[in-house]
Amino acid sequence: MLRKELNIFTFRDLLEHFPLRHIDKTQVNLINEINPETEFIQVAGTLVDSTIIGEKRGKRLVARIRDKSGILELTWFQGITWVQKSLLPGKDYLIYGRCGFFNGRPQMTHPEMELLASVKSAGKNFLEPIYPSTEKLKARSLNGRQLGTLTSVLLPQVAERDIPENLPAPLLQQLKMPSRYRAYCDIHFPKSPQDYQAAVRRLKFEELFIAQIRLALIKLQRHRYSRGVVFEKVGDIFTHFYNHVLPFQLTGAQKRVLKEIRQDTARGKQMNRLVQGDVGSGKTIVALLTMLLAADNGYQSCLMAPTEILSQQHYQGLTALLKDLPVTMRLLTGSTKAAERRKVLAGLADGSIQMVVGTHAVIEESVQFQNLGLAIVDEQHRFGVAQRAKLWQKATIPPHVLVMTATPIPRTLAMTAYGDLDYSVMDELPPGRQPITTVHRNEMQRAGVMDFIRTEIAKGRQAYIIYPLIEESEKLSYEDLMQGYEQVKSFFPEPKYYISMVHGRQPPEQKEANMQRFVTGDTHIMVSTTVIEVGVNVPNASVMVIESTEKFGLSQLHQLRGRVGRGSEKSFCILLTGERVSKDARERIKIMCATNDGFKIAEKDLELRGPGDIEGTRQSGMLNFKLASLINDKAILESAKKYAQLLLEQDPDMTSADNLPLKSHLLAKEGKTSWSKIS
Ligand code: ADP
Ligand code: MG
Repeated sequence: MLRKELNIFTFRDLLEHFPLRHIDKTQVNLINEINPETEFIQVAGTLVDSTIIGEKRGKRLVARIRDKSGILELTWFQGITWVQKSLLPGKDYLIYGRCGFFNGRPQMTHPEMELLASVKSAGKNFLEPIYPSTEKLKARSLNGRQLGTLTSVLLPQVAERDIPENLPAPLLQQLKMPSRYRAYCDIHFPKSPQDYQAAVRRLKFEELFIAQIRLALIKLQRHRYSRGVVFEKVGDIFTHFYNHVLPFQLTGAQKRVLKEIRQDTARGKQMNRLVQGDVGSGKTIVALLTMLLAADNGYQSCLMAPTEILSQQHYQGLTALLKDLPVTMRLLTGSTKAAERRKVLAGLADGSIQMVVGTHAVIEESVQFQNLGLAIVDEQHRFGVAQRAKLWQKATIPPHVLVMTATPIPRTLAMTAYGDLDYSVMDELPPGRQPITTVHRNEMQRAGVMDFIRTEIAKGRQAYIIYPLIEESEKLSYEDLMQGYEQVKSFFPEPKYYISMVHGRQPPEQKEANMQRFVTGDTHIMVSTTVIEVGVNVPNASVMVIESTEKFGLSQLHQLRGRVGRGSEKSFCILLTGERVSKDARERIKIMCATNDGFKIAEKDLELRGPGDIEGTRQSGMLNFKLASLINDKAILESAKKYAQLLLEQDPDMTSADNLPLKSHLLAKEGKTSWSKIS
């Protein structure tokens, strides 16, 4: 039963089934003390009756409890037959739970209940733990409180050596943290709230510290044992480009990242670096310069983008810059024609093509390189293990890998989910950019928005109008888009205005042609779904209108907004919604209007959605902490990271006596995570 309901298999699992909270057993309130502000409360009273009411989904069990001050209604929506069987009318109960008001009457949903007589006979008077439980278990007398009885029987039988320390003693002393054994005792049965806090802090620290050590070890292994191709020199190609072709000065951040890449690629180890940059921070040019570095050292390189459109754009932009240089770059995507594809494959195999840009088609099995030295993955967070594995087969020594994020990730997430990668931040935009002004408008103000677009077009600018793509109902999105397109056309009739439309149902050539007309300025407006979301660069566009803004997440909105403000002109982002907007959506819109800083937006996104939902991190087991939270425990995470680094700097193999307990803990759990070759 425990096994099925709570996944508790062993005593250890039971010990690690931590309480939700503690209640002070001595504190019993009266029912008439409950007010709308009351959260959790404990009352004692007699069970009057219980009835099952309602039909099907509305079916529920309602019981009434009376004390000398009034009546409290208890409600269950689950396990109601079980619960009703266990309730004994006329008996006195101690009841604990979260209160609410319903039709002006106080009500408690799914309370914890215990017979008053048995509570008294147990004679417990300390802070009592309340555990997560389920209705089925509750009905079998294993509610959140009674689970505590199990734990209280088990714990005294557990000796200190059964819960051995895994953190170095000096560290514990320095941080004034209780031993692991003490912490386990105190998290269940603390003598004081302070003891409880100390236990929680210690166990959270332990979780985060061990995660940081594991990640750092993966990195360390790679730095130590991996072999990488060496880009020892900056040669003529790079230098010529840098001095004569590069159309602008690099920003400080771009220079810094380039330097980090130089160091990584020169030392004979494989680089595995994540570049975090805000939209518009200029990641593409960093990618190109790194590819030139590879070429100077006689190696081939590839640049992979998530979409056809983006690959095309990169290819056009980059080949234009490379036209006077002695390197050949080609495009390879799913829609490359067979004849061209054969030529590209032959060129890559014999080394006459040094650089290839494309979608992930680039690392398909049939593509063979003469000597691939560098793979760049643009506008993604993570380069999947399977994809990496393909890359490893392309060369005897694995190529360097550079991953460039689509949007910033909160620091705390980056530290955990991507902590095994080397990591650079580009937190600076090229000079001369004017901040984008973002406003919220509703349906009633549509005509005004269209007027605004008209004045911008009159100044020679271009505009995007984006419709949401709802995955579950692709058809609906498509119809929305078509309707929108007709409407935009009626506001902007030909021949004065021309409109491009791009969406996922178009064949690639048509998508590309429509995109191209917008890039060259032949069309004034781009109506599109989110297929243009990442990467696309049309510096002349100055207006981004987002339809049904409420349907987008924060990072997506930020990414879309990043399509404007790429040139020196003032740009605008208009968030359109219906008249009524949900609270969550209003919060997102408020944040968007308040800041252009992708790093700040990422933090907010994490707060609003929780770590499980942030794109690309879902699969990452590194985020499954039992106690620690990446949102609320930032300070503990920072300190865990600091001490983990310090420890591995001083004793990378963990051979000192102080560090042996940690080492054996890691080894004991090693079956779960493999340290080697995850890159
Ligand atoms: P992202 O980081 O979003 O991929 P891009 O690489 O597309 O950004 O760059 C955005 C725009 O900024 C491009 O038009 C690019 O040419 C320009 N740019 C990049 N770096 C600089 C710089 N140092 N100075 C001026 N403009 C730059
Ligand atoms: Mg980009």
